[in-house]
Parts: sequence; C-alpha cells; structure tokens
Amino acid sequence: MGSQVSVDVGAVRVVIVGGGFGGIAAASQLQALNIPFLLVDMKDSFHHNVAALRASVESGFAKKTFISYTVTFKENFRQGLVVDIDLQNQTVLLEDGEALPFSHLILATGSTGLFPGKFNEVSSREAAIQAYEDMVKQVQRSQSVVVVGGGSAGVEMAAEVKTEFPEKEARLVGSQPGCRARPCQPRAHGSRLTGERVSNLEDLRLNEYGECIRVHTDKGTEVATNLVIVCNGIRVNSSAYHSAFDSHLASNGALRVNEYLQVEGCSHVYAIGDCADVKEPKMAYHAGLHASVAVTNIVNSMKQRPLKAYKPGALTFLLAMGRNDGVGQISGFYVGRLMVRLAKSRDLFVSSSWKTMRQSPP
Ligand SMILES: Cc1cc2nc3c(=O)[nH]c(=O)nc-3n(C[C@H](O)[C@H](O)[C@H](O)COP(=O)(O)OP(=O)(O)OC[C@H]3O[C@@H](n4cnc5c(N)ncnc54)[C@H](O)[C@@H]3O)c2cc1C
Repeated sequence: MGSQVSVDVGAVRVVIVGGGFGGIAAASQLQALNIPFLLVDMKDSFHHNVAALRASVESGFAKKTFISYTVTFKENFRQGLVVDIDLQNQTVLLEDGEALPFSHLILATGSTGLFPGKFNEVSSREAAIQAYEDMVKQVQRSQSVVVVGGGSAGVEMAAEVKTEFPEKEARLVGSQPGCRARPCQPRAHGSRLTGERVSNLEDLRLNEYGECIRVHTDKGTEVATNLVIVCNGIRVNSSAYHSAFDSHLASNGALRVNEYLQVEGCSHVYAIGDCADVKEPKMAYHAGLHASVAVTNIVNSMKQRPLKAYKPGALTFLLAMGRNDGVGQISGFYVGRLMVRLAKSRDLFVSSSWKTMRQSPP
C-alpha cells in the first residue's frame, strides 16, 4: 500500500473516531495515501497508555507518553467529544453540536478505565502530563502502596513502584490466584495478596496520599497503607456509537464485525482495536494490525477490488516489570527476562509511537 491513491476528493472523506493506537495507525496510512480523512479525539494528543504506569512513578516520563495530533495531522485533526453517529445522514455528531460528514467511518474508540492506566478525558497535553506528575508526587510521599488488581496491569504497576523506589513497600491485592504469564517470578514487584478481593474499595480515596488508609479484603485481611492505586476494570468505550449501533453490539459493548472488520450490515463502517469484537486479546499491537486491514479495505472498495480478511495472529504477551525485568510468551513459548527487557521493559514501545507520529520524543 505504498503509493498514493487517486480518488474523487469530493466523494471520499474517511472519519476516524478515536486517536488511540488503532486510530493513529489508520490516520498515518490514509495520510500517506493522500486519501482525505479527519481524525477526531476528545484529547489534543495521542496517549501511549502502554507506558502510563511508568509515567505515574517516574518524574519527567509523562511528557514522552503524550504526542500532539496537530503536529502530525495538521487540519486533518479535530478535537471533540463524539456523542453519536447519524447513520442516515452519514455524520459524526460532536458534543458542541457540529456534524462531521463521512463517506467511510472507522470507529476506534478503544477502552476506558481508571487513572493512571487510562486517561480518557477531554484534556490538553499539558493538563494530562500534569495529572501524571501530580501522581508521581503522591507515590513519592507514600512509604507503602497498595495496588488493587492481580492482572498484568496490577503486576506492572507494583513492579514500577518497586523499581523506581526500592525502599517503598508495594503490595499487590488481586482476586485472581496468580499472574497470567508463566513462569512469572519477577525480582522486583513487591509482596502479594492473591485470591482476595478488596471489600471496601468504594470507601477508599484512590491515587491520593493518606496517613493511614485501611484496605479490607473479603477474607478478613486488613492492610494499612498510604496510597491505593486500582489497575483493573478496563471496559470497551462504546459511548460514541452505542445508540447508533445498538443492535450490532456484543454483550461487552464491542462492535460486531465481519472478517473484513466492517461493522455487521454497514459496509462503509469499520471497527478496529479494543472496540472491535474480535476474538483475541485486546492489545495495541492488534489495533495497529486492524488499522492496516481497514485502510486496505477502504482503498480496495474504492477500486472495486476484493477485500482483505483479518486473521487473528499468534499470541504475543510481554509483561514488563519495571525497566529491567519482565516475562512473556510468544506463540506459546516462554520468553526470558533479557529479551522482554530489550523488547519492552526499557522503553515500553514509546519510541515506536513517536515514529508512527513522525515526531521526535522530548
Ligand atoms: C497499562 C497498560 C499497559 C498495556 N500494555 C500493553 C502492551 O504491552 N502491549 C500491547 O499490545 N497492549 C498493551 N495494552 C493494551 C493497549 O493499550 C490497548 O489495547 C490499546 O490502547 C487499544 O488501542 P485502541 O486504538 O483500540 O484504543 P485506545 O488506545 O483506548 O484509544 C481510544 C481513543 O479514542 C478516544 N475516544 C474514545 N471515545 C471517544 C469519544 N466519544 N469521542 C472522542 N474520542 C474518543 C480516546 O480519547 C482515545 O484516545 C496496555 C494497556 C494498558 C492500560
């Protein structure tokens, strides 16, 4: 898909809703092909959320995780919160009342969840970076940190705290019996309380230092700490399209798609990334692969060529545990600490996103 595509500019306008990993990959490819497009996101910059947890413990890191859309996509980016899709008139509706017409639509609204793992807010780059720098200060003040969530994000969060501040206590509390990647024997991840669910979560102030915060579990354990960080509860972000595609949603709110990643029954609407109901783990890497297929199929449909099918690939799972440690699996085979460290833990793929956005990291 290297060369530019010659199209009737008046007839084609691809609107991409959501500038996450899938959205920026699709926008970059459309830009390279000279196909008219508009990328819409509620924020003014791409969030490299894969490194969000490090940004909440390491001062000065957050600025590497937010990358301006305008610098890359210029007038083809529009900041705005999408509140609905009008399928009949083929427009995307923004909170401020504006209606953006499209010939083709790529829905890439991803998933949402609690800060610091996710930052899904209408925000500027400066405000987003400041939110992470404020979080670093809360961690710095705390001698003891409880991380709730025994999945991969919880393990990564506890390890980031322990790596940056070896003298602090980081305790992981999760209802899951253990870590998903095996063998999982991190050197620096703090202590664990597995198979126990926090029972007083709604009473706890999250991400804020406290002199003595008491965390209770359903097994009767009490842990006294200074800071509670929750790293679970990621869910599909369907608010932009929920009412328009009500009858095309899976039970988790993801859009049901065919093998070409077209939303069922709507050949000019594609869903990619975390918000597409594809049976595979929700990963940034997969969102990028989806973007390629969606853009190829938009081009192929314009040229009346056969469409390309998306085939879920082999499972790659890399778990970073701070800058120097990690475990993983590629196609079912265990990947050692050294390889995970080189592939992921050192920079958490930050440089790859700056490359996609054709900008230099600060
Ligand atoms: C802590 C953490 C670590 C991770 N580590 C890895 C890893 O190592 N490898 C890996 O492959 N994956 C990893 N993931 C998963 C990965 O980040 C997600 O799969 C990826 O973000 C999905 O990309 P996406 O483009 O589908 O959506 P997202 O990245 O979630 O982006 C969606 C975008 O849509 C925008 N949006 C949503 N709704 C609206 C609306 N109504 N109006 C306007 N804009 C809207 C949001 O602002 C956001 O920018 C990790 C995730 C987390 C949280």
